[in-house]
Amino acid sequence: MHIFREAKVTLLARQEYLGAPHIRWESDTDVPGQELAEFAGRLCYLSFGADAGLEGGHRLIAGRTTNREYLDNIRTVRHGSVLEHAVWSFLFEGVSRALTHELVRHRHFSYSQLSQRYVDESEVAFVLPPEIEEGSEAFEIWRRSCERALDDYRALLSRIEAQVEDEPKATMRRKRARQTARSVLPNATETKIVVTGNARAWRHFLELRGSASAEAEIRTLALAVLDVLRQEAPHLFGDYRVVEQPNGLRVIETDYPGV
Ligand SMILES: Cc1cc2nc3c(=O)[nH]c(=O)nc-3n(C[C@H](O)[C@H](O)[C@H](O)COP(=O)(O)OP(=O)(O)OC[C@H]3O[C@@H](n4cnc5c(N)ncnc54)[C@H](O)[C@@H]3O)c2cc1C
Repeated sequence: MHIFREAKVTLLARQEYLGAPHIRWESDTDVPGQELAEFAGRLCYLSFGADAGLEGGHRLIAGRTTNREYLDNIRTVRHGSVLEHAVWSFLFEGVSRALTHELVRHRHFSYSQLSQRYVDESEVAFVLPPEIEEGSEAFEIWRRSCERALDDYRALLSRIEAQVEDEPKATMRRKRARQTARSVLPNATETKIVVTGNARAWRHFLELRGSASAEAEIRTLALAVLDVLRQEAPHLFGDYRVVEQPNGLRVIETDYPGV
């Protein structure tokens, strides 16, 4: 039985910023998400500078100078919709179905998840909950239970395959058997999911799932996502701190929650 001990977090995609060639304005950042958010924010007040050359009779203003200063202010005044222009996609592997059940409650992300109806789970792996120490009695109970579930899945799969053998379409036959057999797989069953979200949605996820009251596996995932996003876009995620509590729990904190 294969066991995942931690999630594998892969950044799949980030944006490209093309800019508006007819507007004479440049950001001092070369991070596309940060540039795009700044551009969108500046459009609201036409703060591209007096010589930006926009068509129309509006008066242009200068506004703040650096991207960092600009996005800091966006957070301060809670102009959060500007952050929705910056988008990142992740692949999460080695996460449990329990985790993804919580993850997909976040309605501003887009998801594509491994299908247990199409994919044969006879050799599926399981995700060890962070609270269970390997070698402990709890670990043995957990391991036995996963192994039993897997045995039951395989047994059930072959019975249902036999039961639906008169189904003319092979794909449908397999789907009917797998969608039924999966009902005995536990929350710890490993899954894979692609998640796309904008900076505002990722911030909300980090704050909720990085908090002390979040479930342990998803909190660990939130910390790993924060590591990536802080490097990707320090002006959008650099206000987050990872704080170790007296009980050893590492949690995510910010002075700008709910932007
Ligand atoms: C510690 C913890 C314990 C939890 N326990 C439970 C539980 O026991 N049972 C349970 O069912 N869930 C539970 N949840 C899940 C929780 O209720 C949310 O579904 C989940 O955290 C997604 O966050 P969100 O609702 O803020 O929305 P998201 O979908 O992430 O949306 C972000 C924000 O957009 C706004 N928004 C989105 N959709 C709407 C809408 N339709 N109307 C108005 N505003 C909207 C809200 O301001 C929302 O905060 C728990 C979550 C946490 C972090």
